[in-house]
Amino acid sequence: MSSTIWSVDEHLEDILAAVRPLEPIELQLPEAQGCVLVEDVVVEIALPPFDNSSMDGYAVRVADVEGATEEFPAVLTVIGDVAAGDAGLGDDQRVGPGEAARIMTGAPLPAGAEAVVPVEWTDGGTGEGPAAAMRAHSDAPEGAAGEVRVHRPAGARAHVRARGSDVRPGDLALRAGSVIGAPQIGLLAAIGRSTVKVRPRPRVVVISTGSELVQPGEELSGGQIYDSNSFALTAAAREAGAIAYRVGAVSDDAETLRATIEDQLIRADIVVTTGGVSVGAYDVVKEALSSVGDEDEPGGGVDFRKLAMQPGKPQGFGSIGPDHTPLLALPGNPVSSYVSFELFVRPAIRTLMGLPDVNRPTARASLVTDKALSSPAGRRQFLRGTYDAEAGTVTPVGGSGSHLIAALAQADALIVLPEDVTSAEPGADTEVILLR
Ligand code: AMP
Ligand code: MG
Repeated sequence: MSSTIWSVDEHLEDILAAVRPLEPIELQLPEAQGCVLVEDVVVEIALPPFDNSSMDGYAVRVADVEGATEEFPAVLTVIGDVAAGDAGLGDDQRVGPGEAARIMTGAPLPAGAEAVVPVEWTDGGTGEGPAAAMRAHSDAPEGAAGEVRVHRPAGARAHVRARGSDVRPGDLALRAGSVIGAPQIGLLAAIGRSTVKVRPRPRVVVISTGSELVQPGEELSGGQIYDSNSFALTAAAREAGAIAYRVGAVSDDAETLRATIEDQLIRADIVVTTGGVSVGAYDVVKEALSSVGDEDEPGGGVDFRKLAMQPGKPQGFGSIGPDHTPLLALPGNPVSSYVSFELFVRPAIRTLMGLPDVNRPTARASLVTDKALSSPAGRRQFLRGTYDAEAGTVTPVGGSGSHLIAALAQADALIVLPEDVTSAEPGADTEVILLR
């Protein structure tokens, strides 16, 4: 147990200095979502891979439709159909003078054709107007032999998406360091990549402690409460980008807790515990982890300390087990554990992922309150609040009590009252941490 009081920043620095981005692995595209790419992805094919039509219509030669009008349409012989997925007209057929091929969106421009006229500019081969043309186009059976009347001219390459107009072989599709979101996954799939090299999501094991804790859904007896921390922090870990494993509540027994943590190490890149870190008689996490001096034993390297913050004063941090897995021991009160998670665990998770932004965005806002809020001297206070970006204001919800779960559920921001502030007046300019 350190006797010095740590600042919030010192504690965070200590944690971040001990965690390194995870080693990259090759992942299937769906698994890579949210991960950081560690390779430059170079395109090997052209996109589109071939010239294709951007409309349903007719593939034509420009000279054949030159000067075409409603009154004097160009009348062309329809020699066949090209649908998406067809390689072309087939049988080495080409669109010759006076000819057209019916073509669907995404189908390759057949040999001989220079442009596409949309079906709306034609009679659709019905001898009637454009409305009938569109109807005919969608209902028409296979094979569209006959004639089509084209009412408007089309310039060279009109309604043709050129091969390579999106990307070409050798282009850089995504740079190392990119975060893989939905459009990036789309691009990777479009260029034919099934896997990518990324930093994996960290595996976070969440263990709550307390003999009073009961699993939701079960009956409460006297003195018992439901375990909410393990659920909240598992969810928060997922939101942060981790793969989170919730281990149910462990009773206040040091040996049981040690054994549980040891069993979990195999699947943990970080272990998070809640409760049992104050100075009470049953502060089991401290008992289980601080007694052992050997760094290779669980608990060997965990330091329990006091932080100059509220809520969240007692905290433990260190590394445990043969792989020196980081362990963060958070206080038990639900608000304390959540605030601690936001301040310390989330940045650690995001550092493991190699993400560029490990911290939540912050903003300045004017404090909305009837009377001045008092704040403890020498401690950084984190109040829960609702932030109004448009008005530039933040309004506290609930009080400072660290058991107030309902108020936490309404909040979307943390109001930060610095160490030297003992009273925050209505309208005071305050820092807020945006949680959503
Ligand atoms: P502790 O730090 O273990 O003394 O816990 C502080 C307070 O938080 C006590 O009132 C506990 O009952 C409560 N608490 C601890 N763990 C949880 C949990 N997992 N879910 C809800 N409340 C908890
Ligand atoms: Mg406890």
